Amino acid sequence: MPKKAIKFPTDPKTGKKSRTTPNPLPGLETAAAAQGCSGRPPRHLPPEKHIPALQNALLDWFAVHQRALPWRNSYTPYEVWISEVMLQQTQMERGVRYFIRWMERFPDIAALAAAHEEDVLRMWEGLGYYSRARHILAAARKIMAEHNGIFPRDPAAIRALPGVGPYTAGAIASIAFEKKLPCVDANVERVVSRIFDVDSPVKQEPAAGVIHQWALRLVPEGKARAHNQAMMELGALVCRKKPCCASCPLGAFCISHHLGIEDQRPVPGKRATVTPVNAVTGVLRRGEKIFVQKRPASGVWGNLWEFPGGRVEEGESPEQAVVREFMEETGFTVNVAARHGIIRHGYTTYRLTLHCFGLDLAAPGKDCTPETCPAPPVLTAATQYRWASPQELEDLAMPAAHRKLADSLFSQPGQTAGASTMPRQGRLTDGTDTD
Ligand code: SF4
Repeated sequence: MPKKAIKFPTDPKTGKKSRTTPNPLPGLETAAAAQGCSGRPPRHLPPEKHIPALQNALLDWFAVHQRALPWRNSYTPYEVWISEVMLQQTQMERGVRYFIRWMERFPDIAALAAAHEEDVLRMWEGLGYYSRARHILAAARKIMAEHNGIFPRDPAAIRALPGVGPYTAGAIASIAFEKKLPCVDANVERVVSRIFDVDSPVKQEPAAGVIHQWALRLVPEGKARAHNQAMMELGALVCRKKPCCASCPLGAFCISHHLGIEDQRPVPGKRATVTPVNAVTGVLRRGEKIFVQKRPASGVWGNLWEFPGGRVEEGESPEQAVVREFMEETGFTVNVAARHGIIRHGYTTYRLTLHCFGLDLAAPGKDCTPETCPAPPVLTAATQYRWASPQELEDLAMPAAHRKLADSLFSQPGQTAGASTMPRQGRLTDGTDTD
């Protein structure tokens, strides 16, 4: 059988070929190979020449295999927007749980815009990247003020909302309003890089631009909603890190699969360095009340409430560090009264090891109460403080590691974490939390 040369696709923007390496696996079309996840389709259809067929195959597959997700009931722009922002850096199952809870609390843009930031952050607690929640609130207020409470349809107006980047704008405009725009998330990046065999790191140029151009070219006129969701769904369910090509509706069109190099696509970029952080925090009690402080608006965990603490410095023990940190951040002299264990938590590119302590004031004074003493703290790392009861802690938005500590100390046995009532002494198990 004569060998057929593979014509590699060209960049739709520059007209240049996207790869030049020869086909390493010619003559793949065997019946036996059409079995299992690595099976090859009997015939390869170069994707750039069969775009309508590719689009139809994808849409047919999506019609049958799409998951029932709550925002797919009505596709209101508000629901599409919140779901898209929530699902960034969040697993689907977790995102759905948060979405349902959010919609019960803030059923529309007006309800969200009228909410206190504290309530919005509390509903976001555990999703991380808290600036997203603050931006959502600011955007809702802007929609009320400048768009009469109606979500804008124009992509430029959507993009002008606080916190809305190109991906989110494309997702809302295409999924809610059927605008012909692509949504290039990590799933779509993987699918497109494999179908068109993009052979350089996908997060960098020129690959990022090539992927965006192909993703745009694939969007069928008038069917952006179904198509973009189908691309994302295919990446989530079939074209995963380890793809199941035998189940893929696009197997016949996929160059990487045809070449047998799908596991080499997408080409990764440089991995972000993970920085370990060794830190301490302390729970200072006065009677039934616990000292907490509110972080500044800017920076990590902005406007969230926390137990004071900070990094362990070189040559310092965690016990020494928590005493020093309390003095520096509040002016309080404290003693370590209990060890509450270690929390390990991942956020952005940091891996936090948080040593947790119970603290007493070193010299509380006779007949001291939270209302009368100690003297007010001198805050150097916070904008507000409170002596809060365990019940009041429940209503404050806290970083995940601090919420975990609070739950371990104040939740009743058998109670749902976060539904604290009376304080009890607890000890954390050493676990890892990566949200
Ligand atoms: S798109 Fe993904 S799952 Fe489908 S054939 Fe290509 S590599 Fe396989």
